[in-house]
Amino acid sequence: MESIEEHPYFFQSGRYEGMSLEWVFVKNPLYISRIYRNQFIHKRNYLKRVENRLELAIDTLQKKLRAMDVVKMCPICKEHKVHYFLLPDRGQVNSSLISCEKEECKKELKSFRPGELYTISDFLLIIPYMEKREAKSVISIFKKSHPIQLLASLV
Ligand SMILES: [Zn+2]
Repeated sequence: MESIEEHPYFFQSGRYEGMSLEWVFVKNPLYISRIYRNQFIHKRNYLKRVENRLELAIDTLQKKLRAMDVVKMCPICKEHKVHYFLLPDRGQVNSSLISCEKEECKKELKSFRPGELYTISDFLLIIPYMEKREAKSVISIFKKSHPIQLLASLV
């Protein structure tokens, strides 16, 4: 984590005025995910300078999430740390539908339940497009597999 360049960002307005991006992320990841999505929509529009600073800060946050030590083991092989969650073609996201990076485990998870695999640490990119209930399940998968309190202690 030392090699990641810091780009601190504090919200200037809105419900989290004065709070850091990381603090808000820990409290309300869904809020950050929506900002993340909106960045791409409003990129060429207003407040370009502010948007760019926020974009840098969110990119830094994303790098930190990817570099975090995972604390949960793969429920299939029980040998490696989890890496993916499954978005099932039918039915709900479920915290037991996870696997490590091994091909055998990915295959077994998909045979158990057809769907798409997504990287758990990249969940911010995916949840803005989900129903709130599903998004909350994905957030809970992230929180159970990553030491999010470490991030909070840096804030
Ligand atoms: Zn595995």
